Amino acid sequence: MSENDIVIEVQQLNKSFGSLHVLKDVDLEVKESEVVVLIGASGSGKSTLLRCINFLEINESGKIYLEGNKIDPKKDDLNKVRMRTGMVFQHFNLFPHMTVMENIIEAPIQVKKMARDEAIRIGKELLGKVGLSDKADVYPRMLSGGQQQRVAIARALAMQPQIMLFDEPTSGLDPELVGEVLEVMKALAQEGMTMVIVTHEMGFAREVADHVVYLDQGRVIEVGAPDQIFENAMEERTKEFLSKVL
Ligand code: ADP
Ligand code: MG
Repeated sequence: MSENDIVIEVQQLNKSFGSLHVLKDVDLEVKESEVVVLIGASGSGKSTLLRCINFLEINESGKIYLEGNKIDPKKDDLNKVRMRTGMVFQHFNLFPHMTVMENIIEAPIQVKKMARDEAIRIGKELLGKVGLSDKADVYPRMLSGGQQQRVAIARALAMQPQIMLFDEPTSGLDPELVGEVLEVMKALAQEGMTMVIVTHEMGFAREVADHVVYLDQGRVIEVGAPDQIFENAMEERTKEFLSKVL
């Protein structure tokens, strides 16, 4: 794959819940190793867009291409598709009865049929990467929220995804724990992971994003480089939103 390859392409996506039209003709393009940050008010459709990209929700119209393949939810094995797309949520949802290492190796062993030794080897490497090498054998309840979220990131990475989706990964954390999670995400970005991130951490977005996408009421209002969006937004609605959050 060359640098310019498009890893995620969303074309004219529409999604409704009953009579509520949540995503309206959404286009999105993410190239290999790019970081795209989605911003917008609560209810603007950010989570739904991520969930459509991961096929946790199925769009009614429009097309989604992942790594160049048009995904057809009726024909394609969505479990296989999802394996290539790691997702990290606001609530980490670690299995409470499993140790950190058990949480990390569960899906690789059960879903990918990876050998246990190999899963543990990868798990150790990932715990090192998220700065938790000494926590392999503890249970999630013994960890801080920031540590639990770092385990959740390691768990998603254990499936060796091509794409990582983050839905407000730091919104549930005490302010002093936000930085350690953002640092892990920054390191991932520097390694070249392709990422789509919903966040309200505008400083982080500015530093890490290649593009910022502003959504309002289910529509993409503006896409641009962070400096352009934050300093010189073209659209009134973008300016108004940013004036409230910056
Ligand atoms: P955001 O993540 O930007 O806050 P969401 O994508 O979660 O927005 O939600 C967009 C809109 O869709 C909201 O009005 C929300 O209430 C609605 N919505 C989201 N998920 C569902 C669902 N499963 N059923 C019905 N309505 C939903
Ligand atoms: Mg959301």
